[in-house]
Amino acid sequence: MKRLILPFLLLSTTAFSQSNLKPAIDKKATSIESKVIEWRRDFHKYPELGNQEFRTAKVIAEHLRSLGMEVTENVAVTGVVGVLKGGKPGPMVALRADMDALPVSERNDLPFKSVNTATYNGQETGVMHACGHDSHMAILMGVAEVMASMKDQLKGSVKFIFQPAEEGVYDADIAGAELMVKEGVMKDVDAIFGLHIWAQIEAGKIGYRSGPFMAAVDNLNVTITGTQAHGASPWSSVDPIVTSAQAIMGLQTILSRNVNITENPAVVTVGAIHGGIRHNIIPEKVEMIGTIRTFGDEQQALVHRRITEIITNIAESAGAKADVNIGKLYPSTVNPPELTAKVLPSVESAAGKGNVIAMPPVTGAEDFSFFQREKPGFFFFLGGMKKGGDPLTTPSHHTPDFFIDESGFLLGVRTLSYLTVDYMEMNKK
Ligand SMILES: [Zn+2]
Ligand SMILES: [Zn+2]
Repeated sequence: MKRLILPFLLLSTTAFSQSNLKPAIDKKATSIESKVIEWRRDFHKYPELGNQEFRTAKVIAEHLRSLGMEVTENVAVTGVVGVLKGGKPGPMVALRADMDALPVSERNDLPFKSVNTATYNGQETGVMHACGHDSHMAILMGVAEVMASMKDQLKGSVKFIFQPAEEGVYDADIAGAELMVKEGVMKDVDAIFGLHIWAQIEAGKIGYRSGPFMAAVDNLNVTITGTQAHGASPWSSVDPIVTSAQAIMGLQTILSRNVNITENPAVVTVGAIHGGIRHNIIPEKVEMIGTIRTFGDEQQALVHRRITEIITNIAESAGAKADVNIGKLYPSTVNPPELTAKVLPSVESAAGKGNVIAMPPVTGAEDFSFFQREKPGFFFFLGGMKKGGDPLTTPSHHTPDFFIDESGFLLGVRTLSYLTVDYMEMNKK
């Protein structure tokens, strides 16, 4: 038996070479945990909308400079990028945190409850870190401090990417990660890691998926044009309302008859439909808008093609005309299986194997995907739910009662730090 076990052990240690910096990471991360929580509470109290993260950016830039980094501000409008040069040669590892808050009025009764309001798309609203990006920034500031404390021993460099406008902005076509990539932030990067705090996973746990993890999100805009008529004489109309009803039912067959549901799910939702003005007029036009969620480029192309074919041909069969317009927003967040297999032991060594959960695909979207399209990237969820909480009744992201248990932050700091130093160890130059 011994003879069999020995080669197996040798194999498993060569497959994953661990950095010896982990005890020092743990020590430093624990010593700054309360600072990370303070930073988060400060960001939470003063949240800012996408591309308006001016105060937020200043706090981040000052911190990175105090750690001796080269800092660039106003990247992709309000983004901040800091580079920490390691003492030894090696890869450039990028770590990303998003910075923006949402037009949501906070209902939580907290000493650091949001005090900010703003005008969003013409409406007065409260502003709240209702997606948890405040914790992402605080955790990454903590990682920066940990990495800076062992700078001379780092076998490579770290690029800290603080990204604005992850939630998108209504008045710009391009923002956030896509704009940062366009401005060249990924050019000298070898790999990128990022996390999202998750209100439906217990603090102390981590969720991930190899392959397509989060959906691509695209907007559907449809106009069906027929011929207007008196409601009492429908035979003289080409009725866009009946045609739209048929088109909506036709769209249901994409998921039931075109998508291979054993591979990945997809979603086609019509969210609004407008047409007509009174009981007895058949209108000329109906407008519909909706959202499309897909996983991976191939499935996305299939779903888009079927949407266009079904709506166009149903309209044509009725004698109406359809304009189908699909606006591409964020691609699918895909963790490359090869990179995922390589870095999973780092995640497990930080959280403990039993605390790392392989997740089903998530139909929400993330613009981290733009970074992953440039260089190999791994994205994971960090638990932010109170221990023993019920994911079904815990308020979800983007709601006024959204709440994060800060006891999970230390694991976030340790995991991003472990991923960085292990990746450097595995890709020494
Ligand atoms: Zn969000
Ligand atoms: Zn988010």
